[in-house]
Amino acid sequence: QKSVWVGTNWKMNKGPGEAIAAADALASFKLPEGVRAFVTPPLTSLKDVASILQDSPVMVGAQTMYWEDSGAWTGEVSAPMIAECGASCVLLGHSERRQNFGETDWTVNRKVQAALRHGLRPLICIGDLLDEYEAGVSQETLARQTKIALNGLSREDLRQVVVIYEPVWAIGSSGRPADPPFVSEIHTKLRSVVEEIAGHDGSIRIPLLYGGSVSRANIRDYVALSDVDGVLIGRAGWDPEDFMSLIASVG
Ligand code: 13P
Repeated sequence: QKSVWVGTNWKMNKGPGEAIAAADALASFKLPEGVRAFVTPPLTSLKDVASILQDSPVMVGAQTMYWEDSGAWTGEVSAPMIAECGASCVLLGHSERRQNFGETDWTVNRKVQAALRHGLRPLICIGDLLDEYEAGVSQETLARQTKIALNGLSREDLRQVVVIYEPVWAIGSSGRPADPPFVSEIHTKLRSVVEEIAGHDGSIRIPLLYGGSVSRANIRDYVALSDVDGVLIGRAGWDPEDFMSLIASVG
């Protein structure tokens, strides 16, 4: 029986007041067996949300970080700072960061290594652009992003990482959810990419999640796929009641 991961990325939503209220709502939630849940609040409420969910199985993560531990990097926040806030994981390489804030495959790799040095689980996002999808080169893009993100990691490190396939064309209100058969094909190929890195003996199974317009209408279709270990939800998970009911629907 595989674990099913269900996360929600709040993106740039919920100020501290709203974030605390949402965390309070999640705090008493009993996760169904076999489900691993996480939430990534904005940095302004990371510490509050982490402390409210301290005794809950719902993990808390940041949405990005910088790879240096400290220094003259105005506006940035480091892995040790995020860990001190009580977070256990961090999203890295989300397409909104790659597209709008200049993150590259290699800067994502530096961030992955920094997160691991400080005991944070890297939740690594990869994704193909619409023109790549239409040109039929999604696999190549995703293999490249994955191999560079995981470059130089030890076996111990590889046990900690999660890889999340989020097609850029499937994210947000202007996107459309990827067809489950397409996701299945992509994830099967991704499985062989990560096994090439972590070994084929099955001793390390890197969780592969799907994200992009996941909703009540399609969550079960994705989770049912053999190479999909869970989902990352944006809009449909921002309301904590909705998030809990989405989790319950796959538990
Ligand atoms: P949506 O579910 O709103 O499409 O967002 C997906 C996403 O980017 C999660 O990180």
